Amino acid sequence: MSGPRKVHVKSFGCQMNVYDSQRMADLLAPRGYAETASPDEADLIILNTCHIREKAAEKIYSELGRMRALKDAAAEQGRKLTVAVAGCVAQAEGKEIVRRSPMADIVVGSQNYHRLPDLLARAQSGEKIVDTEFPVEDKFDVLPAPQTTATRARGISAFVTVQEGCDKFCTFCVVPYTRGAEVSRPVAKVIAEVERLAAAGVREVTLIGQNVNAYHGEGADGREWPLGRLLERAAHVEGIARLRYTTSHPHDLDETLIAAHRDLPALMPFVHLPVQSGSDRILAAMNRNYTRGEFLRAVERLRAARPDLAFSSDFIVGFPGETEADFRDTLSLIEEVGFAAAFSFAYSPRPGTPAADMSDQIAAEYKSERLQRLQALLTQQQRAFNASFVGHTLDVLLEKPGRLPGQLVGRTPYLQAVQVMAPASRIGEIVPVTIADLGSFSLFGALASSATSGSETHLAHA
Ligand code: SAM
Ligand code: SF4
Repeated sequence: MSGPRKVHVKSFGCQMNVYDSQRMADLLAPRGYAETASPDEADLIILNTCHIREKAAEKIYSELGRMRALKDAAAEQGRKLTVAVAGCVAQAEGKEIVRRSPMADIVVGSQNYHRLPDLLARAQSGEKIVDTEFPVEDKFDVLPAPQTTATRARGISAFVTVQEGCDKFCTFCVVPYTRGAEVSRPVAKVIAEVERLAAAGVREVTLIGQNVNAYHGEGADGREWPLGRLLERAAHVEGIARLRYTTSHPHDLDETLIAAHRDLPALMPFVHLPVQSGSDRILAAMNRNYTRGEFLRAVERLRAARPDLAFSSDFIVGFPGETEADFRDTLSLIEEVGFAAAFSFAYSPRPGTPAADMSDQIAAEYKSERLQRLQALLTQQQRAFNASFVGHTLDVLLEKPGRLPGQLVGRTPYLQAVQVMAPASRIGEIVPVTIADLGSFSLFGALASSATSGSETHLAHA
């Protein structure tokens, strides 16, 4: 084979998968695989899959169907295209994938992808490989650090996985089965990774985990550190201007995290706190381990610590047994909190989870009707939240080129995308931007003079 081999990684689902996809590319780089954005020129395509809802899982089989044409085209050019299925569908469906689709050459679970180089070598003989056993070794100990050039190419905002897996067993969710038991990475390893990112020019780090505020990694003192302490340590890393974390569970909100929001200027005032439902009956059936009242108190405690804090959340409608009254409880919770953003889903039964076997499943038409009503309310709140900034000046971290020539796109502290005219040389800077207008997906603003630099606090929900 002539020239470097090329790998194309397609990521589905959550930020954890985005992070894993980057680590797979980092793992293959020293083995001569250059990353490509184009599947047509790839020698290896990795589909890093999501199993959270049925539609997400089914998508993978249509993707695999499309691989036939790519494999044929590669063969015509004298190349062999290898297709690997990684991530949560791989973990959950294992051998079933190679049975259903002859296009898959390798199936590798979310905890095993550090073994990809060996699996690739074995696949060259035409053997179909399935590796989904939870390994004894920790993949993080084996994964190489990314090359500085790769980090730079990925931009000035990066994810760092700090914990994986989940022991909560919400009755609707596959994560405890696909990602396994909850494990936290030691503080020193997380901080070393943040330092490496900062040295390569990263300005914003989002600490991620399926249940990030269950974090309890070992600190330098040999004790388990909670997330709030880890954030406090990360805030000291030179060059890191902004910190975020996701996804947290309302039950695991502790005083250190609340203190972090009060005390750390680098910790952005935007929290993704999934509530799922506003009905106590449904929350109990979901095994969420908090009540509506406890969720509302969690929101209050966070707002008391940082009054300009904005919230986003996840919602599921049509969970088994959900009545119109339960659904209205969710709508009233939304009214009570006021969300800046949200993700909402119709309940999707997942094989092997307790809720899939509950007898009182909700008909599809009720689910979609409720989802529409819920999304109408959430969209209205998001628009009102965004509109409340028009005429105000916010600090914006300039991230990358925008849609038009001469335009950059950046993020506000509340994670809103802002389009602003500014030279590319300013990427990585935090600049004051006066918001002028709202688009469907982003805000439009203009650079303000630094005299008005956004030290201003915007009480969006005051
Ligand atoms: N750990 C997070 C938490 O506790 O909320 C959630 C992680 S999950 C990857 C992301 C979101 O997917 C969930 O918050 C939930 O709203 C949604 N989700 C999970 N399972 C689902 C299902 N079976 N049907 C519909 N939505 C689901
Ligand atoms: Fe899934 Fe619940 Fe764990 Fe979140 S907390 S990953 S919803 S089981």
